[in-house]
Amino acid sequence: MKFTKEKHLSKHSPIRQSKANKGKLVTNEGKIPDNAMNGTAVSVIGNTVIAEINLGGKMDFVECSVSGKIKSPYQNSTLVAVGDNVIFIPEESDSGEIKKGRVIAIGDRLSKISRRAVGKATNEHVIASNFDILLLLASAFQPSYNKRFIDRLLIAAEIGSVRPVIGLNKIDLTDDVNVFLEDLEIYNKMGIQILTFSASKGIGIDSVIELTKDKTTLFFGPSGIGKSTLVNKLIGNSVQKITEISERTNKGQHTTTFVKMLDLPYGGRIIDSPGVREFAMWDVDKLNLAMHFHDFDDYYLNCKYLPCTHTHEPECAVLEALDNEQIDYERYESYLNILESLEN
Ligand code: GDP
Ligand code: ZN
Repeated sequence: MKFTKEKHLSKHSPIRQSKANKGKLVTNEGKIPDNAMNGTAVSVIGNTVIAEINLGGKMDFVECSVSGKIKSPYQNSTLVAVGDNVIFIPEESDSGEIKKGRVIAIGDRLSKISRRAVGKATNEHVIASNFDILLLLASAFQPSYNKRFIDRLLIAAEIGSVRPVIGLNKIDLTDDVNVFLEDLEIYNKMGIQILTFSASKGIGIDSVIELTKDKTTLFFGPSGIGKSTLVNKLIGNSVQKITEISERTNKGQHTTTFVKMLDLPYGGRIIDSPGVREFAMWDVDKLNLAMHFHDFDDYYLNCKYLPCTHTHEPECAVLEALDNEQIDYERYESYLNILESLEN
């Protein structure tokens, strides 16, 4: 029998080596043992997952390792992401307490923000899962925001079933916030809420509280934007046991940055993520890209030749709308920028 790639990936091999997971095995099969417990991944530091568990209404944390085989609905994806529902085998300590465990499975990701894994075009990097809102942080002053970055994240939010909101920080450094609101007007037109505030001066923080109350929100943006300042402002002095546990874990792992979920003192949670500059699209291809640009919705199906890349084709309705200034030029630039970055 000839060995083909298709054969190799056929149903006959239920266990596949996932490159994303550094040699760990991902499987769709296998029985969950009776002593397994359920938790939520609230921090992932290297190979350690901190799982939050609910013991009859009392919350506690279990430091879990991820090794060997894991049962997961996802191939070529992040093994365990913050927000994932994890199933683990507990290890009882001498005192009978459960402080450690080993993750054996994860549940479905109902929502997520994913990007293409750095250096591995075929792998998904899930930044976080199972949350409600993506708060896309921008700043009115250094680092100034990049609309091309915002456009990428809006697509990731749509793909991941998350509601995007733009948060403009450092408004104390501008005399006229309307200049920024005008610049961001296209997003307002697209129905995306825009909050303006100053994390360090405490201006407009109420709107962030209102947004995040009783929800789970991922805070995302480049470093220097004021994310830590905002997180501290919202969390205040409330005790975050997770911070202490993750810092202790981190000492052994030498990871400089990691994602963690924190409790808000007024109800709700935030997912704090390290600053990022680059964001490579996941799960988008050249042919479906335009469908994620909802300001192109009235046009892209009217092109003469379909499929159309909306770049050079004659009688392209998108190019026509661009000429007629019905489509925002910068949004079209984003479209081109992403199109060029996609392999197929
Ligand atoms: P992070 O890298 O996104 O976590 O950013 P930081 O919270 O560390 O803030 C980066 C810098 O911006 C620090 O010097 C902060 O003091 C400053 N900063 C944060 N928020 C504001 C703000 O609302 N106004 C002003 N003027 N500076 C701010
Ligand atoms: Zn077209």
